[in-house]
Amino acid sequence: MVNNIYKDLKGKVAIVTGARRGMGKTHALKLAQVGCKVVVSDISEEDCQKVVDEIEKSGGEGLALKCDVSKKKEVEEMVKKTVEKFGKVDILVNNAGIAQFKPFLEMTEEEWDKTLDINLKGYFLCAQTCAREMAKQKSGVIINIASVAMGQVGVGFPNLVHYCASKGGIVGMTEASALELAPLGIRVNAISPGVIETPMIDPIKKDPEQEKAILARILLGRVGKPEEVSNLVLFLASAASSYMTGSDVVIDGGWLAG
Ligand code: NAP
Repeated sequence: MVNNIYKDLKGKVAIVTGARRGMGKTHALKLAQVGCKVVVSDISEEDCQKVVDEIEKSGGEGLALKCDVSKKKEVEEMVKKTVEKFGKVDILVNNAGIAQFKPFLEMTEEEWDKTLDINLKGYFLCAQTCAREMAKQKSGVIINIASVAMGQVGVGFPNLVHYCASKGGIVGMTEASALELAPLGIRVNAISPGVIETPMIDPIKKDPEQEKAILARILLGRVGKPEEVSNLVLFLASAASSYMTGSDVVIDGGWLAG
């Protein structure tokens, strides 16, 4: 039955990073709605607990964990606590990210390092640590949230050189890790959203000219909603996408086509 498309997700254990707000939060809520046990992780455990409270109010199961994805020890602790509580890890949504706007000529080494540490090294640390668990059960799914800012698709983002470099790196990492993890039963895919309505795009909204120029190119004439990306997360997490690995799926309202 069509409405049972995600029934295999019931009882699966999913970790979502950067899930206290924005898209990470909606990914966590949607995964819980279809029956996943969801680890909601972010820098602020208090905010994560609020998301878990929401999950539990709707009859789901969750666990709030503080984890700075750029710190190996915290990532290992997050995965350890997940296994202690739920016994395994089936799904990782690598979502935590920052976008700190800065002109290229003024960007400092520290700003470059911070962005790459969170947006790229953080994805590596979480993927590697979770994949080691997934390999034990010979199954798992890793979803890496990249961006249309990943390069080579005809859109440029001013003042975000470090961010764009990190997103391009995520797509490369997705392909290469898919190759090594396929024999272990682990699928790895990326999602590249266009502009999505979250606090991350506040700087764009404060610049009406940039906002207008972006909207003019989006065929659907609006920015995306976090839930629309979460629908794709569900698809890639579930057996409905069982023949997909190493892919990067663009979800942009037709921006790249426009
Ligand atoms: P968001 O609302 O800013 O959410 C990102 C979350 O990640 C925040 O809660 C943030 O916490 C957290 N975070 C930051 N550094 C972290 C760290 N070191 N460890 C753990 N968590 C950390 O942004 P969003 O738009 O939902 O972004 C989610 C993902 O989608 C990001 O990877 C982003 O690059 C990507 N994306 C967004 C768009 C868009 O238009 N919104 C488009 C394409 C791709 P703090 O608030 O405390 O920093």
